[in-house]
Amino acid sequence: MLKLQGIAVSPGVTIGEALVLDSEGFRIPRRFVERSAVDTELERLASAVAETSREIARNRDAVKIELGGQYAAIFEAHLAMLHDERLQQELTSAVRDRNFWPEYAVSRTLRRYAKVFQGLDNHISQRAHDIYDIEKSLLRNLLGQRRETLAAISQPVIVLAHNLTPSETANLDRRFVKGFATELGGPGSHTAIVAEGLEIPAVVGLGPFLADVSGGEPVILDGNQGIVILQPDEETIARYRLEVEAARATAVSLSRLRDLPAETTDGVRIQITGNIEFPSEGEQCLSRGCDGIGLYRTEFLYLTSPREPTEEDHFAAYSEVVRAVPGRPIVIRTLDLGADKMRAESTTEQERNPCLGLRSIRLSLRHLPQFRTQLRAILRASALGDVRVLFPLVSTIVELRQARMVLADVMEDLAEHGIAFNRSMPVGMMVETPAAVIMLDVFVKEVDFVSIGTNDLIQYTLAVDRGNKEVADLYNASDPAVLRLLRRSLDVAREAGVPANVCGQMSGSVMYTQLLLGLGLRQMSVPPSSIPEVKQVCRSVSVAECRVIAEKALAMDGAREVKAFLREQLRRLLSQTVA
Ligand code: PEP
Ligand code: MG
Repeated sequence: MLKLQGIAVSPGVTIGEALVLDSEGFRIPRRFVERSAVDTELERLASAVAETSREIARNRDAVKIELGGQYAAIFEAHLAMLHDERLQQELTSAVRDRNFWPEYAVSRTLRRYAKVFQGLDNHISQRAHDIYDIEKSLLRNLLGQRRETLAAISQPVIVLAHNLTPSETANLDRRFVKGFATELGGPGSHTAIVAEGLEIPAVVGLGPFLADVSGGEPVILDGNQGIVILQPDEETIARYRLEVEAARATAVSLSRLRDLPAETTDGVRIQITGNIEFPSEGEQCLSRGCDGIGLYRTEFLYLTSPREPTEEDHFAAYSEVVRAVPGRPIVIRTLDLGADKMRAESTTEQERNPCLGLRSIRLSLRHLPQFRTQLRAILRASALGDVRVLFPLVSTIVELRQARMVLADVMEDLAEHGIAFNRSMPVGMMVETPAAVIMLDVFVKEVDFVSIGTNDLIQYTLAVDRGNKEVADLYNASDPAVLRLLRRSLDVAREAGVPANVCGQMSGSVMYTQLLLGLGLRQMSVPPSSIPEVKQVCRSVSVAECRVIAEKALAMDGAREVKAFLREQLRRLLSQTVA
C-alpha cells in the first residue's frame, strides 16, 4: 500500500481501477487480446509499424535536404532498429503467443530494450533515447491522439496522469471517469475548476508517482483530503467505503434545503448562484436550489469543440441555459481564453508569460469578428430571459469602454435587422486584478454589476501561479492582502450602489462563508455541488456575528493565522448546527 499526499481540488471519495496515462498521455493498460482477435490486432500492429517507418523516412529525407547525409544517418539507424528482425519477432510473439494488447506489447518490449542500453556504461547508453522515440511513435500510431484516447474510455476508471489540460478535463466522460489524479497541477487551475464543475473527485500536484502504478490496479482517491492510495489493503478499502456512504447520506440530508431561501438568522437574504462551464450544468444548479447562474464560463464551448463555434452554436448553448434556469438571472461571461485555457491544437506562438499575455478581454478585443459573433448570440439570448453579460479580466477603463462600444455596435446591427434583444441588458466586469480593485471607484460608474474573480485576484495579488504545485502553499485566499482587496471592492461597490458578487472558488468553500458575509457580500456564485452546503451555512449564521468574525480576521497579519481562525469558526458553527 502506498499513500500519497497531493492538493485536494474537487471533493468526493472514490474507489476504482487505475487507468494510467504516461507523460505523453498514452494509455497503456495491461490488456489482453481475445484469441479470435489476434489476427486483427497483428494487422493493427503491422500498420502502426509501417506508418512509423514512413514517418521516420520522411524525417530522414527532410533532414538530408536541410543538413546533409550524416545527420540523416540518425534516422537510418532508427529505421534499422524498428525493422530489426528480432524486435519484430518479439512484438509479434507477444501478441500471438501471450495475447498482449499491441500497445502493451510495444511498451513492454521496447522499454526492456531501452533499459538494456541504459545499463551500459558508455556512450551507447544514449541509444535508449532513440528506442523511447520509436516506442512513442509506435504508440502514437496505435492509439491516435491523446484526446481520442481519453474520449475512448468506456468502463469505470480513475485516471492517473502526469498532467491534464482544462480542455482534456472538459472532455472527460463523467459516466466512466470516477476521479483523476495528476503529478502536476495547482490549486486554482482551470483543470481543478472543471473537475469540480463535472463533480469528478480530483487530486493534483502529487509529484512523480506514475512509475509506482500499473493500469487495472485498485486505487482510492480522496478528493476531500488530497490523498491517493495505491494498492490499498482490504481494511483501508472498507474504511473508505464507509466514508463514501456517509457522504451520500449528507448529500441527501442537504438536498432538503433545495427550496428554502439562503437567509441568515437575522433575516438577510443572500443570493446563491451557480458557476457553470457547460449548459447541462444549468439543470444541476436548479436542482440544488440556486438563484440563477452567476458565471457561465463560455470558453469551454471552444475548448470542447474541434472547430470554432458559430453564432448558432453560441445561441443554442445560451438558450439551453435560459431554458434550464427559467426566470432567474444568467450571467454569461465573454470568452476568457488564453493562459491555461488554450485548445490543445492551438497553433498560436507560445507566450512567455501567458497569464500576463494576450488573454480574456484582451484577446476578444484583438479578434473582433469572433467577439462580435459571441455578443450577437448573447444579445439574442437576452430576448429569452434575464441574461446579463460579463467581461473578464478588465484591467483598464479603456478596455471596458472598448468592449462596451463593440456591444453597442452589435446592438445597432441587430436592431437594423429587426432581431429581438434586450437593449438594457445589464453589463458587468470581473474584478480580477489589483488594478481593477484600485480603480474600482472609476469602473463602477460604467457598469451595472461587478463580479470578483478571486481565483485570478489571488494569483495576481500574491504573484503566485494558480496552476503551479511548487507554489501551491503560497496561493492563499486567507492572505490578508487578498482580504483587504476584497473589503475595498465590496465597500466601493456598495457605496456606488452597484451589486457585487464573488465568483471565485473561495465563495464555494464554506470556510470563507462567514468571512464573506461579514465583509458585506450578499451574492455568491459557487460550483453547483457547493450550493447546498453554502446555503446551509448562510441559514445558520447572523450577519452581526459574521461582521465580528470579519473584523477579527482583518486584524490578523498572516494567512496561516486567518485560515486557522476561520477553520475554528466553521468547526464551532457546524458542531452547533449538528447538535
Ligand atoms: C476567477 O478568476 O476567480 C474566475 C472566476 O475566473 P476563472 O476561474 O475562470 O479564471
Ligand atoms: Mg479569472
